[in-house]
Amino acid sequence: MSSYDVLEMARSQLRTAAQYIDLDEGLLKVLSQPKTQLAVSFPVVMDNGEVECFNGYRVQHNVSRGPSKGGLRFHPDVDLDETTALAMWMTWKCAVVDIPYGGAKGGVSVNTKRLSRRELEKLTRRFASEISILIGERGDIPAPDIGTNQQVMGWIMDTYSMQAGYTVPGIVTGKPISLGGSEGRIEATGRGVVVSAMEACDHLGLEFDEQRVVVQGFGNVGSVAARLARDEGATVVGISDHKGGLYNPKGLPIRQICEKYTNFDGGIHRFEDAETVTNEELLELDCDILIPAAISAQIHKDNADNIKAKLIVEGANGPTTPEADQILSDKGVLVVPDILANAGGVVASYFEWVQDLQNFFWEEDEVNERLAKIMRRAYAHVHHTMMHHKTDMRTAAMINGVERVAMATIKRGIFP
Ligand code: GLU
Repeated sequence: MSSYDVLEMARSQLRTAAQYIDLDEGLLKVLSQPKTQLAVSFPVVMDNGEVECFNGYRVQHNVSRGPSKGGLRFHPDVDLDETTALAMWMTWKCAVVDIPYGGAKGGVSVNTKRLSRRELEKLTRRFASEISILIGERGDIPAPDIGTNQQVMGWIMDTYSMQAGYTVPGIVTGKPISLGGSEGRIEATGRGVVVSAMEACDHLGLEFDEQRVVVQGFGNVGSVAARLARDEGATVVGISDHKGGLYNPKGLPIRQICEKYTNFDGGIHRFEDAETVTNEELLELDCDILIPAAISAQIHKDNADNIKAKLIVEGANGPTTPEADQILSDKGVLVVPDILANAGGVVASYFEWVQDLQNFFWEEDEVNERLAKIMRRAYAHVHHTMMHHKTDMRTAAMINGVERVAMATIKRGIFP
């Protein structure tokens, strides 16, 4: 269980947005609840011959706009409430960028660093088999999230296909390219974060290449965002992984650090030409743009006031608590919310799924161009809503997302 009640946080964001659009009470009740929750307990025979039992979940929040879509998280903090909150955010995220999906999420409560590769494969395959009653290429399509990667998606695709009796590439996205994955998918979330940061700079009248950037988290999102921000000319002064951070006011050589130290157990602290800082200190460093790309509830009521950045672009899901949102808004900090800023991943997942269904694959440039176009369009729409309602950007993004989902529900009508 996360120390912060993320489900309450997701529901409070929904209630706030609902007030702006006079959302019908009944509809608010529907959207506050997940459509389907599946909780499974399953055994895995570990390498030492002992049996361990794991708890896993798949939650579908809403399917009004299309099949439900969302990642699978392997992390010790995974529980039903967190998975439900994350599924809810996926619904709004897909609606904000206007791709034809509802929202879902899943995961297993496990510390993958304790598992051998063989154990991880067995856990993944058994979990995939347990949730196969819910997922489907036309109904609910998983993808990677914290603690899962291309290989894990490959095992899920294989497990599902073995049961189906034929290859079903569209059952998951974020697969290896050789198994029907898409060019550009790995980088897509980080790329979308940087596109959003550049759009925000444009609106604030700032030159992106004059900004000092701090990135928390050096996984698939943070490391790519840091590298692409650097490529676009910004100075990345701080980065971190789960073991701690690095700070150099003159800038960090991100490509070099990525090449040498990127691995799943972290280890960027071994880079010597920088000051070491804790993850808490990192968030409060002197910088212009802060990209929290680690886990939820990192910016909270006790540190929000100390944040120096004037722009926060959320790479992670739920990194800022509602109390912190209020403090940041009072300070005049612009927060580009997760459901917009990190939507690049699911947009590229959508491209992957379309390619899988058609068995026709695109070049990387095409993926990147279409991705940037969708991100810019969504940013402009959210910005417009923010100005129109004179509200913060999270509420504006929620308004856009909730409005689209509500409209689809109303147009479809309630069965029977
Ligand atoms: N896990 C990612 C997210 O939170 C991607 C989900 C997907 O591609 O379906 O947006």
